[in-house]
Amino acid sequence: MTQTLSFIGLGAMGYRMAAHLPKNFTQVLVWNRTSNKAQAHAKQYGTQVATLEEAVQADIIFSCLPTSADVEALIKTLSIKSGAIWVDCTSGVPESAKKLKIELQEKGVSYLDAPVSGQTIGAENATLTFMVGGDPTAFKQALPAMQVLGKLIKHVGDSGSGFAVKAVNNMLMAVHLCAACEGASTLKSHGVNLQEAFECINASSGQSTVTSAVLPQRIFNRSFPDTFALSLLAKDTGIALDLVQSAKLSAPVIAASQSLIQAASNLVEHQSDFSNVAKMYEMFNKVTIE
Ligand code: NDP
Repeated sequence: MTQTLSFIGLGAMGYRMAAHLPKNFTQVLVWNRTSNKAQAHAKQYGTQVATLEEAVQADIIFSCLPTSADVEALIKTLSIKSGAIWVDCTSGVPESAKKLKIELQEKGVSYLDAPVSGQTIGAENATLTFMVGGDPTAFKQALPAMQVLGKLIKHVGDSGSGFAVKAVNNMLMAVHLCAACEGASTLKSHGVNLQEAFECINASSGQSTVTSAVLPQRIFNRSFPDTFALSLLAKDTGIALDLVQSAKLSAPVIAASQSLIQAASNLVEHQSDFSNVAKMYEMFNKVTIE
């Protein structure tokens, strides 16, 4: 059976993700709030510009917007095709996924929370990781479409579980980003060469994506490329902290890291990259991390 796909939200992630779909599906509709991005996408990748109403008549509807609030606001206004599967790749709020699953189920639509990780480079290379919550049958039906965009695609539990895994993942990255900036400032102030130091650390037990990629490729070279907004990371760490608090747990490292990421986000322009956390530490310590 020929399936129609659509992609809603052609931002830093969505634009690159939607580019792969025409390779495996003949009809791929795209919608973006700022419509010239959809037009450019259609021209560049052979997708088809659609109105929002047309986009939600597809069999599988992908969305990738900044927040769950944005997705909810859109869905509220729409009459979605019965039998469709909505695959929401936004890094969103677990409670919102649970609510949307029930609301859409009443209309015959399946909702999957399906956030992704791998950054814009992963979207470009179709090597994203999908962590998916929701109905297992809908997951199986949407799997071939997700496989076009990602490498590791896991069903992690009921609705909301995908968003929860994503929030915890990004919190772990945030914790390490703060710790790595603190470690780098310390080494620098003791006269250690940071390039050489992090080559050692990257071959040792302190290694992570932050030490092997974020520091050398964004911070040490002062490039701070705008690919993942610090405000979006602050949103994600906020979701993780909410999960901790709603479970009445004690998680002081998470609480401190959320506060630091939020402070760093408040200091910079709205779309500034998450690597700008380093600049907050540079203000604290008067030590340049380069
Ligand atoms: P961007 O800010 O680059 O893009 C956001 C997209 O959403 C744009 O297409 C924008 O449209 C659209 N949009 C914003 N607000 C609304 C609204 N109220 N109604 C309709 N459309 C709206 O974000 P990213 O692509 O970076 O991130 C999207 C999601 O993916 C976020 O949840 C983020 O946390 C997550 N993510 C991001 C990663 C990254 O590396 N960037 C990595 C993994 C996950 P317009 O063009 O009109 O502004």
